[in-house]
Amino acid sequence: MTLPVHTAAPIQPTAARAHLLNDGTVDDYRRTVAAGVDRVARRVARVTGPFSGVRPDRLAPRVEAIDLDRPLHDTTAALDELEEVYLRDAVYFHHPRYLAHLNCPVVIPALLGEAVLSAVNSSMDTWDQSAGGTLIERRLIDWTARRIGLGPAADGVFTSGGTQSNLHALLLAREEALAGASPADRRLLLPRLRIVTSAAAHFSVQKAAKLLGLAPDAVVVVQTGPDRRMRPGAVRHEIARCRRAGLPVMAVVATAGTTDFGTIDPLAEIAQGCATAGVWLHVDAAYGCGLLVSPTRRHLLDGIERADSVTVDYHKSFFQPVSSSAVLVRDRRTLSHATWHADYLNPARAVADRIPNQVDKSLQTTRRFDALKLWLTLRVMGPDAVGELFDEVCDRAAQAWELVAADPRFEVLTRSALSTVVFRWRPTGPGPELADAANLHARAELAASGLAVVAGTRVDGRQYLKFTVLNPATTRADIAYVLDLIAEHAGRYARTAADLTCPVG
Ligand SMILES: *Cc1c(COP(=O)(O)O)cnc(C)c1O
Repeated sequence: MTLPVHTAAPIQPTAARAHLLNDGTVDDYRRTVAAGVDRVARRVARVTGPFSGVRPDRLAPRVEAIDLDRPLHDTTAALDELEEVYLRDAVYFHHPRYLAHLNCPVVIPALLGEAVLSAVNSSMDTWDQSAGGTLIERRLIDWTARRIGLGPAADGVFTSGGTQSNLHALLLAREEALAGASPADRRLLLPRLRIVTSAAAHFSVQKAAKLLGLAPDAVVVVQTGPDRRMRPGAVRHEIARCRRAGLPVMAVVATAGTTDFGTIDPLAEIAQGCATAGVWLHVDAAYGCGLLVSPTRRHLLDGIERADSVTVDYHKSFFQPVSSSAVLVRDRRTLSHATWHADYLNPARAVADRIPNQVDKSLQTTRRFDALKLWLTLRVMGPDAVGELFDEVCDRAAQAWELVAADPRFEVLTRSALSTVVFRWRPTGPGPELADAANLHARAELAASGLAVVAGTRVDGRQYLKFTVLNPATTRADIAYVLDLIAEHAGRYARTAADLTCPVG
């Protein structure tokens, strides 16, 4: 018997297919991505301030006017359009007068990693979607855990950011606290669980508590001292107080680098208190993790090696592009609280077959190979170079603090161990309400002018301004210039407001 022979016409590639990256389109891939890189390079070379100052009501109509159902069919035209709706008015973190949030300029080896990882497009959930990517991620987790000093049973996984890492760590802590409880006991215990943290901790702790089904008052906030650090005595006291009230503390969250103040909680003493009480210690080092590679400041993290879990944000102090973050744990067995075996993806037998499926440890399923950015950074620059960059910004922030502290136009808060400066313009005449408004006004005017971007925050009911220095290119002169601008805007505001309220000459 002979099989019928199919003589179908050869498949003609359609126009749509020409957009897929494959062996037939590599030249277009090279040209297209190079054109994009060239646009960004030209823009970066031209940027004269961190921001254009564009307002949402000016930009929104430009974005709205674009008909997404009518493609341009041309890369150059699409890039021209992108200039108008994005590149021209983006906020540029590489500019030395971007001093606002925890956004860093990015290192070029990591951008290389970003280009490679998105083109190959590995997904880190299973070995059969990533192969070597899984091994590289595991090496970087081991490397980070060793830098922290978590011990031989440590493990972890890359995440989308500190928020997810904190959620993940607290999920594990919750499950450890509930381990062995019957379903009925779980229901009874869940609303009683408490998390002890400081007033300066990141708000994602509160969000995590909510997502984890804890009570609305589950997060017990310990007031910090004037140094804005968590007091170990207060932590011990709260653990004991909760216990007496029948409220088990499932975790203490200490912060290594508070978002506002850049302060580091006394980790060793807090770890001691947690060990004595048998409470899970999570250290949120989203910001302070850069110290892990610092040639001069690693000691500031002493005690972190005693944590049960740690959050690190490479996209903050390792100069990595967003996203790049990880959660690390002392005992790899605890990661199994996030394990779910799906027959189609990561069947339980894969564990016995020693197939490394990272989804067994992750809250995500499909997941970017963000680890590649850090890998290429370490392979090209090495950890010391990253640490030197972080040291530089800490030094610059210390200089900025001295500059502000010596300036009678301003008052400054706690000196940061890392790279933030929290301060406010101080009026000579008018009252405190006016000072709050004047500081807010100065911040808005600064952003609108595009000359600098600074952050704002409220401390003890008062409006403050904040520098977060994460750019080694920021100079003392940049800081001095921005301070002059702030004083000018705030002073003018206060004078105008005073003239309006007291028109008597
Ligand atoms: C930034 C930050 C977070 C949140 O991290 P994301 O990467 O923005 O999700 C958590 N904790 C601290 C201390 C932070 O500074």
